[in-house]
Amino acid sequence: MAKKQFKAESKRLLDLMINSIYTHKEIFLRELISNASDAIDKLYYRCLTEGDTGISRDEFCIRLEADRDTRTLKITDNGMGMTKDELEKNLGTIAKSGSLDFKEEIEKKDEIDIIGQFGVGFYSAFMVSDKVSVLSKAYGEDQAYLWESSGADGYSITEAEKEGCGTEITLTLKEDTDDDKYSEYLDTYKIKNLVTKYSDYIRYPIQMMVEKN
Ligand code: ADP
Ligand code: MG
Repeated sequence: MAKKQFKAESKRLLDLMINSIYTHKEIFLRELISNASDAIDKLYYRCLTEGDTGISRDEFCIRLEADRDTRTLKITDNGMGMTKDELEKNLGTIAKSGSLDFKEEIEKKDEIDIIGQFGVGFYSAFMVSDKVSVLSKAYGEDQAYLWESSGADGYSITEAEKEGCGTEITLTLKEDTDDDKYSEYLDTYKIKNLVTKYSDYIRYPIQMMVEKN
């Protein structure tokens, strides 16, 4: 399948994330939960203004699910979702002003300063993952799409199946090293702690799915 390349400025940020020696890699979870919450906000406000979406406020939630067998951590939301174009635009390029500032700062400072100072967003997933998959269906659309990337060599977008709108992000965690024990992000207790530490302010329920045996 043909791979698309990241835009040059995105690739710079991505390379930084992939090769990160940053000690607080755990902030990736905060970033992904905050994106999930933003996506639910968008759909929630749409519901308020349109009224006929068929979704009620108390159905909104964010789910976390770890699977040791596949070494994956899933972050799922039932928010706005993304169309094919939005997957391309939002995950393949850096458009937001925060990231543009970030990009300029990268040029002149070191990594530790920068990551602590800015919200690094979606690409922070690559600090802990060999592969990131984003399965998404936009509100009001029939077709879902799967965005996949193993990092610097680009990404692909293919048609996929998904029930309901929203986004499911699957991280295939990196292998453990002496310095970084990525498998701790498969641990329910650790994940709960991170949620309490960084995502306590999130206004939607965050459900931790317990691993099936
Ligand atoms: P930011 O959140 O500051 O805009 P990110 O790098 O965290 O930047 O995310 C980039 C964009 O990707 C978001 O602005 C949003 O449009 C899109 N996005 C990321 N995660 C999701 C999600 N779970 N649902 C819908 N859109 C998302
Ligand atoms: Mg974000």
